[in-house]
Amino acid sequence: MENLNSLRKRGRSLHEMYINLKKTKRNMAIEFCAIGGYSEVGMNMCAFKINDEVIICDMGFYLPEVVRLQDEEIVKTTLTREDLIHLHVVPNDAVIKDWRAKVKAIILPHCHLDHIGAVPHLAEAYDCPIFGSPYTIEVLKSILKDEGVKLKNKLRILNGNDSVKISENITLEFLPIPHSTPQTMLAAFHTPEGIILYGNDFKLDNNPTLGPKPNYKRMKELGDKGVKLLVVDALYSHEEMKTPSELVAKEMLKDVMLGIEDKEHLVIVTTFASHIARLKSIIEFGRKMDRKIIILGRSMNKYISAAENIGLVYFSKEADIAKYGDQVRKKLQDVQKNPGKYLVICTGHQGEPRSILMRIATKELPYEFRQGDQVIFACKVIPAPINIANRAAMEAKLKQKGVRLFKDIHTSGHLAREDHHDLIELLKPKHIIPAQGDITILNPLADLAEELGYVRDKDVHVLKNGDSILIE
Ligand SMILES: [Zn+2]
Repeated sequence: MENLNSLRKRGRSLHEMYINLKKTKRNMAIEFCAIGGYSEVGMNMCAFKINDEVIICDMGFYLPEVVRLQDEEIVKTTLTREDLIHLHVVPNDAVIKDWRAKVKAIILPHCHLDHIGAVPHLAEAYDCPIFGSPYTIEVLKSILKDEGVKLKNKLRILNGNDSVKISENITLEFLPIPHSTPQTMLAAFHTPEGIILYGNDFKLDNNPTLGPKPNYKRMKELGDKGVKLLVVDALYSHEEMKTPSELVAKEMLKDVMLGIEDKEHLVIVTTFASHIARLKSIIEFGRKMDRKIIILGRSMNKYISAAENIGLVYFSKEADIAKYGDQVRKKLQDVQKNPGKYLVICTGHQGEPRSILMRIATKELPYEFRQGDQVIFACKVIPAPINIANRAAMEAKLKQKGVRLFKDIHTSGHLAREDHHDLIELLKPKHIIPAQGDITILNPLADLAEELGYVRDKDVHVLKNGDSILIE
């Protein structure tokens, strides 16, 4: 009996030793948690646990649900954090509740809403600073002001090609990289466990029209030093091509806009308010067309003001910007008197019911379309059912009035398969985690990695929201 008990005791202590050993090993590794954006396109958020410290990257909205709330005239600020999680508007960060006290920083590598829109609702649960480029932080400040939210988190600016120590053991470096909004960064974390690279939304554009080219030299240096983990935007990894440069979109715009000799009809261009490079090209050609340029709408004003505040562009010198209802109405009344003299830039490219273009089409705003007016869509429809339906409704309304439509004047801001191929060869990461979509979007990148010698579930990992894995 005595012997049996001591044997049991010894067995138990051996088991405890084994658990402790495993724990020590766990503590000495990188753990990755996919929080949002791994089961849908949008509401991006993930966390890296490096030894005993945690870094969060991105905190985004699920835009189709935000549009639905707007359609139903539900105001987000009246909803609680739990309501928003339940409604699938923001990521469910309960999966990292045990890591909450260990979070050292929230990193926002670019300003798109599907990457930063949830900050006003989720960030204050974490007692840590938020890092972003000057433009991202400027846009975030304006979102916080709009939503009437005052965060306790410090907002900290990090410029491209600069580094900052986040803790004793972790240094964050920002590498500027082209995307469809200014000052987008690749976030490189230098840690005792190796380099982690987070690149969720960018393209390898060798001819950007605003901002620098990719810093291939630095990327190669990091690759040579040893990248342990690369988390990368897989959105168009199924497209067998290299994503065309923004210069191609600029040439398409030039071709259409400078080809318009008509001096009697209104020309409207609609594009993404945050795509400052695209807006710059539109304004450049608008001036060459010798038309008076008018920019309409609150979101246009928001992103342009942010860019002007940090000295990136000065559109208000070249165009009239009308933000609020009365100003917008007044401008459109002027346009009605002599449409051929004007170029209007406004929101509505996804057919949003509350956008300027839709409100003109439904006569809520005082401009009456005439047969022969022209609308240029410098965008693609983001393929969510609500956008497809909204755009179809808008196009039907415009066509009814005899408006000419110029669609798909656009190039993407995301990598395609051949860019991924080059990127993987440049960085030579030990592990790859595809991001920015559900399994149908993540799989093609994992397939490509397999072709390049990676092994699925060993060094290329397809995850879904709520999954966490150990990177060894
Ligand atoms: Zn983006």
